[in-house]
Amino acid sequence: MLQGKTAIITGGSRGIGRAIALTFAEHGANVAVLYAGNATAADEVVCAIKAKGVSAMAIQCDVADFAACKDAVKAVTETLGPVDILVNNAGITKDKLVLAMSEDDFDRVVDVNLKGAFNMIKHCYSGFMKRRQGRIINITSISGLMGNPGQANYSSAKAGMIGLTKSVARELAGRNICCNAIAPGFIETEMTASLGENPLLNNIPLKRMGTADEVASLALFLASDTAGYITGEVIRVDGGLAM
Ligand code: NDP
Repeated sequence: MLQGKTAIITGGSRGIGRAIALTFAEHGANVAVLYAGNATAADEVVCAIKAKGVSAMAIQCDVADFAACKDAVKAVTETLGPVDILVNNAGITKDKLVLAMSEDDFDRVVDVNLKGAFNMIKHCYSGFMKRRQGRIINITSISGLMGNPGQANYSSAKAGMIGLTKSVARELAGRNICCNAIAPGFIETEMTASLGENPLLNNIPLKRMGTADEVASLALFLASDTAGYITGEVIRVDGGLAM
């Protein structure tokens, strides 16, 4: 499905990003795993990808750092070839009610989740344009659609990603480049491990949390040729929670 394509997955070392990286590799893509600081986890993913017979590399890159993103895209292009698929998945939370939320808590979450996606798109943009092909998949959240108490920073960033997705989709559509967003609900990863018996879970129509593989399946479809007529879309993977 993705034979010979080069994919960058930000936050590919753990959770949803890891599942997307392994799924893409399973379908023939060469994969660059960008991570923040967990080199052991990133190396493990790279080994697992290589075991599938494709190429892989790990790059430590804070996506909030514009220059670091530029260097990362250059390194991937030189090592694995021109980028065909960009998945902006890196994300963090710093949940607090606005009353307790510091300026730094707000800025950092927006910088990583939203500006990080912009930074990566910016540095892949001209390569996509020149080659008249490319896929961008932004991992937003149902928090960006619905809002969530304690997540003013995160919801703002994730809602911003939806605007970013639609603007970039419109800018690049004439060059055959598709940009879409996936909005997961509650997915079992380290990010949600501390939720415990959260009452919101009882509101999920499908009565369970989702898995990272269930998000990865949609990312694979959006990255594939099959999805070539879909752009500017936001698709929920949330067990019906936000419908
Ligand atoms: P995890 O906390 O399990 O993993 C986060 C990943 O992002 C790690 O690979 C981490 O790298 C990387 N990362 C964090 N900060 C940065 C940074 N500044 N620069 C580069 N990489 C960074 O998260 P999930 O897998 O749960 O979430 C993945 C995405 O999905 C996020 O955008 C999240 O907001 C979104 N999402 C998740 C939901 C869920 O229920 N889990 C629901 C809705 C959306 P390292 O390993 O080095 O720390």
